[in-house]
Amino acid sequence: MTEKVVVVGGGVAGLASALALGRAGHPVTLVERDELPAPTDAEAAFLAVRRGAPQVHQTHGFLARMRVELRDRFPDVLDELLAAGCTTMPLTANLGPPQPGDGDLAVIIVRRTTFEWVLRRAVTAEAAVDVVTGVSVTGVTGEGGALPPRVTGVSLDDGSTLEAELVVAATGRRAAVPAWLAELGVTVPETVHHSGLMYLTRWYRLPAHFDLGSDPKLGGDLGFVKYLGVPGDGGTLSVTLAIRPDDGALRAALSDADGFEEACRLLPGPDRFFVDGPLEPIGGVRPMGGLLNRIRRFVDDAGVPTVSGFHAVGDAHTCTNPLYGRGCSLAVVQAALLADAAAAHPGDGVARATAYEAACAGQVEPWFEVSVQMDRLGADPAGIPGGSGESSDDPARRAVMALLAAAATDPVLGRAMARFWNLLATPADLMGDPEYMARAAAVMADPDAYPSPPREGPTRDELLEALAGAGVARA
Ligand SMILES: Cc1cc2nc3c(=O)[nH]c(=O)nc-3n(C[C@H](O)[C@H](O)[C@H](O)COP(=O)(O)OP(=O)(O)OC[C@H]3O[C@@H](n4cnc5c(N)ncnc54)[C@H](O)[C@@H]3O)c2cc1C
Repeated sequence: MTEKVVVVGGGVAGLASALALGRAGHPVTLVERDELPAPTDAEAAFLAVRRGAPQVHQTHGFLARMRVELRDRFPDVLDELLAAGCTTMPLTANLGPPQPGDGDLAVIIVRRTTFEWVLRRAVTAEAAVDVVTGVSVTGVTGEGGALPPRVTGVSLDDGSTLEAELVVAATGRRAAVPAWLAELGVTVPETVHHSGLMYLTRWYRLPAHFDLGSDPKLGGDLGFVKYLGVPGDGGTLSVTLAIRPDDGALRAALSDADGFEEACRLLPGPDRFFVDGPLEPIGGVRPMGGLLNRIRRFVDDAGVPTVSGFHAVGDAHTCTNPLYGRGCSLAVVQAALLADAAAAHPGDGVARATAYEAACAGQVEPWFEVSVQMDRLGADPAGIPGGSGESSDDPARRAVMALLAAAATDPVLGRAMARFWNLLATPADLMGDPEYMARAAAVMADPDAYPSPPREGPTRDELLEALAGAGVARA
């Protein structure tokens, strides 16, 4: 049985939802408010303005879970990404002899703009999907008196409406989803944890034949600044310096293009890209704030849907601190879960909503919880020896830091951590693995035996002084 679908939003979540539902045979109309001309190549896609999703020009890492989802659900999209010049990079270099499942441990090296361009090409090629751009959805239509209230379509900014049996809100992190549903008497509770960070990102072109080695993500955490350099397709590199938005002096110094680049030379990791001289920049320093963890509930405490005919996917449903690089992977996971729920419950909006939200609770919500906990521990220690490097009496933090230090040399812990960071194993999965648990218990019994490597890099004052010495104005 096919159902008429309207997908609102043409970012990663909306495109993946349209692809999954369209390929399942449902007629889909995707409505995107940005005008989206059809770029001819990845460079044109990078230059295209995306007011509705400005984060596309921020650093994006694509976790192994994304590659696995594409390989298993949309193999043609993975093939097209590779044909467009993207590469994959295995994460198994330090994990000893190969183990079953190691084939899953590889990330995709691609700019977010290239990723979205290739995904959009796949969607527009689908006969079942009609893509309408330059049009905004202003709200939903429906029956507020039904139990639960039922969404039956969307209203557009030209005053017209589109009817649908299934409305997918893929409207991103700034979406007005709760306000839309409030019109039908539906309350959408939200849990929000702010990350306390803002991004400052700059893009560069690497010299031809630059050897990336085996570590594509070069990051660190000095407490006052968390940073990462991520190569992309087309010989590009993006560097992000994440700071507290209220650190005015640092923000002013690093927002300056020269200050940003000088800082890159002083930070262990990004420095390797600048040892032979300046790189060719692509544009200036791009700031972005408002980075948060947020989850929205579309079922009550008993798991009963509060609305039918309407589903949120991607950031409109669950947003995680971008530092951990989870958002796009989770968006594609949710698109697949929604298509599965629709296939399992044709024509039954309530059963579909129950199944979809239950699947999200099992496969997406744990990553929201993990992101909030990692934020509370004060660092993104992913792959960064030493994490934020602060000594701390917090036992949870000491345990995490000891586990990370041990994982650098223990293949069992290293493999488990790689699967965890890449959304291939939830905390519950790890706890169900006796070999991992035995090693982790040994480490946690004596965390002091696994000291973090000493922190390298300047203090905040040293960095500011160095930037001032290089002629960068202080606020
Ligand atoms: C600074 C930053 C860095 C990030 N880094 C990473 C990373 O390294 N790895 C990773 O996986 N994720 C990262 N993320 C998260 C990732 O960008 C999001 O999770 C992802 O974009 C979610 O996709 P989405 O489709 O839900 O939303 P979006 O990509 O934001 O797309 C929403 C779309 O909906 C459209 N829209 C909104 N409202 C309407 C309307 N009313 N009518 C019509 N169209 C509408 C918008 O124009 C937009 O195109 C980062 C996020 C930020 C902010």
